[in-house]
Amino acid sequence: SRRREKARAIADAFQRKCATPMVKLQKLAEAMADEMHAGLSLNGGSKLKMLVSYVDNLPTGDEKGLFYALDLGGTNFRVMRVVLGGQEERVVKQESVEVSIPPHVMTATSDELFDFIAQALKIFVDTEGEDMRLSPGRQRELGFTFSFPVNQTSISSGNLIKWTKGFSIDDTVGQDVVAHLTKAMERFGVDMRVAALVNDTIGTLAGGRYNNPAVIAAVILGTGTNAAYVERANAIPKMQGVVPKSGEMVINMEYDKALDIESLNPGDQIFEKVISGMYLGEILRRVLLKMAEEAALFGDVVPPKLMSPFILRTPVMSAVHHDTSPDLTVVGSKLKEVFEISNTSLETRELIVELCDTIATRGARLSAAGIFGILKKVGRDTVQKGDEKKSVIALDGGLFEHYAKFRDCLKATLTELLGDEVSESVTIELSNDGSGIGAALLAASHSQYS
Ligand code: ADP
Ligand code: MG
Repeated sequence: SRRREKARAIADAFQRKCATPMVKLQKLAEAMADEMHAGLSLNGGSKLKMLVSYVDNLPTGDEKGLFYALDLGGTNFRVMRVVLGGQEERVVKQESVEVSIPPHVMTATSDELFDFIAQALKIFVDTEGEDMRLSPGRQRELGFTFSFPVNQTSISSGNLIKWTKGFSIDDTVGQDVVAHLTKAMERFGVDMRVAALVNDTIGTLAGGRYNNPAVIAAVILGTGTNAAYVERANAIPKMQGVVPKSGEMVINMEYDKALDIESLNPGDQIFEKVISGMYLGEILRRVLLKMAEEAALFGDVVPPKLMSPFILRTPVMSAVHHDTSPDLTVVGSKLKEVFEISNTSLETRELIVELCDTIATRGARLSAAGIFGILKKVGRDTVQKGDEKKSVIALDGGLFEHYAKFRDCLKATLTELLGDEVSESVTIELSNDGSGIGAALLAASHSQYS
């Protein structure tokens, strides 16, 4: 029928737009490496922020004692404590609680947000066991994972550049988030010092390195996308006056609003927008809406719910994509659940699965190209004769962890980009929850007592 042909034509055009041939991925990786270079040369020199983290020593395994971590960066925040036992005993004990942030707190005032956090921290600290006592006179220390763009001013201070991910509190922007947290802790009588302020990528890098000394970078593929990696200090011209003893410095790349995928189409195909969990489901909704409007895919009336931005979440898209039932019953039930659409033909449901594949494949392949770009920048995209160096990338985030087809495609594409020989020396490791432990580890390595 004409409708069917029209829908097919829209799908074909969309697929052409999403195509990611090898040449394009290679170009993207090169552009990424170039942008990294530029961002390290001077502030504002690139679409990548390349923020200096002040983390110049990653965990070694020698860390000992009781440390806290706080992870704020999404709809939940977590507080955690760990007892570290050094090389022999490693992580002796680990406890944590997760608290969801009420939407009104995400858009309230700084004091309301940080009071909410400090209160939860207070309740958690009060449950500290007898086996977790600090030495007398010693203050508790905390690693604060704060996953929003921050201009770091020292290892334990930094000014918020802007809120993202649904947070919107004007009076915090430009201010030191550690000062805010510290004041709130004082208001609630929590005796604790923030020893390290880090981003989730840096926490993941620290946690990953603790488990595997070959970890050189961390990538988050969750609601948002970001990466951090270890750079040589002398490759960071903009880092004036800071001389790390280790000769290395962790850089938070801050992809946010970064590379246009096609320079021909600036501002449209933003890297983060076509690979992050926050957007993949939304891209699918938009294509379905177009098909509903222009090809009457769901009948003469466009289903009203299809017009609601962000109503289709990426986990739902993933469930649709992974539907293996012969008549695609999961696709059918999700359409009903999310859009109140019923009675679709099998052909329509197949088309929808195909669109999921197009969207996820593009995101995964571009993510792989981004990782390849980082490897290029640090010279791990080739193997020298006699060089047995292994490179491990620590990966975290719900998208990578739970979206199997996305994850598999990312890995396969990275192998394709590196070639068989080099890919032998490069591994991607799921660093599930590395960031919580990582922040506690960084608190330990930046302790006022060490
Ligand atoms: P954050 O990035 O906010 O720290 P997570 O790392 O936990 O959060 O990732 C959550 C994101 O992962 C969700 O926003 C969603 O986009 C994605 N996600 C979670 N579960 C799935 C799933 N089953 N399939 C696909 N994506 C998922
Ligand atoms: Mg996270």
